[in-house]
Amino acid sequence: MATGFMTHTLFFWHDTGTAALMLPADPMAGVQPDAHVESGHTKRRGYELLDVTGLLDTMHRVPARPARIGELLRVHTDAYVQRIADASAQPRGGDAGDGFTPLGHGSADIARLAAGGVLELVTAVASGNLTNGYALVRPPGHHATADTGMGFCVFNNAALAARHAQAELGLDRIAIVDLDTHHGNGTQSIFWTDPNVLHISIHEAGSFPPDSGWIEETGADAGQGYTINVPLPLGSGHAAWLYAMHQVVLPALHRFQPELIIVPIGYDGGCFEPLARQALVVDSYRQMATLLTRAADRLCDGRLVAISEGGYSPGMAPWCGVGFVEGLTGRNGNLSDPYAGITAGYAAAPMLPHQQNVIDRVARLVSNINATAPAT
Ligand SMILES: [Zn+2]
Repeated sequence: MATGFMTHTLFFWHDTGTAALMLPADPMAGVQPDAHVESGHTKRRGYELLDVTGLLDTMHRVPARPARIGELLRVHTDAYVQRIADASAQPRGGDAGDGFTPLGHGSADIARLAAGGVLELVTAVASGNLTNGYALVRPPGHHATADTGMGFCVFNNAALAARHAQAELGLDRIAIVDLDTHHGNGTQSIFWTDPNVLHISIHEAGSFPPDSGWIEETGADAGQGYTINVPLPLGSGHAAWLYAMHQVVLPALHRFQPELIIVPIGYDGGCFEPLARQALVVDSYRQMATLLTRAADRLCDGRLVAISEGGYSPGMAPWCGVGFVEGLTGRNGNLSDPYAGITAGYAAAPMLPHQQNVIDRVARLVSNINATAPAT
């Protein structure tokens, strides 16, 4: 069996306009026009690198299709879906909500194609004919809430995938492990009171959204204990992220006993990333993917779907993607990480005590998960 792969050229054409990093261009305010940091450039390079390394040839292509309105309404409000359609029908598009989520002309259709493609991939993985799946999409999704776009995200692809699995595929218990370096606040808000969806987010503390993703945010009502945040200090790297995987993510998955694991995956934890200050290397992503793939094999017949989120270093993010896909497919590409030499110091840097303290505090929350199946 092969790993499924879903992308579409239109994803790279979602037009985020001109900006300086994430600030919309405003010449008279001194914000010089340049390509928006979330343009199609970096992910197109990621796609090309998967091709050139031969990894794409090992994967099974799953075609995209537009999400139906009824599918979007499992997560988003009617008014929000309509607002996105109206804004992107304008000749120059608009914004999805927070002023930092540009929509180009036609972006609503592209966002629907991304969401629908993710649902097709989830269906294909659930059918048992694929090992697992990887979706390379734009626009990203994990900051989008039910009724607003945020942080470049329009429709919450991971949340839509979870609801689709429950509604259509008979998979009730879904674990979402968000490895983007910014907090998966939108996904968290959507499942805040839901004990059937475990949401774990490892991210840089206070990065984006700035006041979101703290240890104390653990869900509410029946969902109490099913939201877990690992807000890592600035400068946390390979050792801390792997420690968080072993101390928090894997034990939490074991207790929860998911029937499907969804992984919003961003490469903005890389050590050359412009929008965060973590210090991961390519091998970090390879190892995290391997751990999650093995967990999925043990817990849920391998059912795991990874969905791309952020990652803004045009040079390094594509290589982090190669590392992650190598972990997912269990195969090596035919080129090896060209950054390995100059990132060796990052790879070897030890976890610092204040980083470990955060992870150890979060690890104590895992016991709040009441697994329906007895832990073995
Ligand atoms: Zn991010």
